[in-house]
Amino acid sequence: MTDYLAHAQTLAPQMVAWRRDFHQHPELGFHEVRTAGIVAHYLQTLGIETRSGVGKTGVVGLIEGAAPGPVILLRFDMDALPVQEATGLPFASVYDGVMHACGHDAHTAIGMGVAALLAATAGSWPGRVKLLFQPAEEGLGGAAATIHDGVLVDPAPQAAFGLHLWNPYPSGHVYVQSGPIMAAADRFTIVISGRGGHGALPHTTVDAVHVAAQAVNALHTIVSRNLPPYEAAVLTVGSIQAGVAFNVIAEQAILTGTLRSFNPEVRSQMIRRMEEVLGGICAAHGASSTLTLADYTPAVDNDPQVTKWASSAAASLAPASRLGHEKPLMVAEDFAEIAGRVPSCYMLVGAAPAGGALGGHHSPHFDIDESTFPLAAALMADAAVRFLQQSAASHP
Ligand SMILES: [Zn+2]
Ligand SMILES: [Zn+2]
Repeated sequence: MTDYLAHAQTLAPQMVAWRRDFHQHPELGFHEVRTAGIVAHYLQTLGIETRSGVGKTGVVGLIEGAAPGPVILLRFDMDALPVQEATGLPFASVYDGVMHACGHDAHTAIGMGVAALLAATAGSWPGRVKLLFQPAEEGLGGAAATIHDGVLVDPAPQAAFGLHLWNPYPSGHVYVQSGPIMAAADRFTIVISGRGGHGALPHTTVDAVHVAAQAVNALHTIVSRNLPPYEAAVLTVGSIQAGVAFNVIAEQAILTGTLRSFNPEVRSQMIRRMEEVLGGICAAHGASSTLTLADYTPAVDNDPQVTKWASSAAASLAPASRLGHEKPLMVAEDFAEIAGRVPSCYMLVGAAPAGGALGGHHSPHFDIDESTFPLAAALMADAAVRFLQQSAASHP
């Protein structure tokens, strides 16, 4: 095998420079115009066939190997978040209220590094590598948009790899494991309708605040009392909006929140119980309610066979003491849209900054250890080439 780590080390200053430039100029989902332009231009300078505007602002590059063979998809996300940066870094965001607070700036830079690594070795492996620089990962449907725009056809990949730098985990540790790795997510909105009126005359009203308070308590029994204790799930009520004045009984309460799960049956059970609980509480008080679910993202479930190629790449790049296994994360990742259609492996690379992180992902204090970039880039390149060589050899 080519020593991708040694080559990636030589690209480290360039990857850091790209990352800092993206960090300073973050763009929200489906607005990654500057970022995508830099990526597309760089891929073209490497001689890679490049398509822009995929899923609105995505970029796809296709690297041809030395002989016909399988196709592997490598996915990197590019979008920032609506967060006001508070890191004080010299390359902090120049835009008010927009920040790379999840590390997608680093993923984009790493992806460009992977493009350089694989373009340089394309004469030594069969098949093709499809590089997807995806827009709008942060709950906006970017993966689905690129799929709708044909990223999984012509040519269709037989496997896919994705990666996240993860700053709660120790820097330079690699986490590759089969099975569920990131949770399914649903956004929910509950509207409770009562009958408003004078704060001093509750007997003439149906108090939506009171009903909402009981609904929140009862909803929290679904995970603790209805689900089997060995199933991982979350039900969070994140906001309540009701009422306008201290002496007016509210007519309506609006609750929003999120559901997280790994098992589709658990998800169905949570939704069914939410409807039953809300129906019962509202009936008891003469109120009514609606429950609306949106933005469903499936769980990311790593394919055992594809994970083996990623694991062997990880084992060749990092000492055994730095190969980790962790509990699945309850956060969601829209790589699931790809992993649900193509056998995939989603990997995590620990990237805690020296001295510990001041803030986790999505925090205004978020930062990441840039010294992990060569490892992350080598991991993607090495895993891709292992897949191409070994699956070409077994299906000539
Ligand atoms: Zn994020
Ligand atoms: Zn992210």
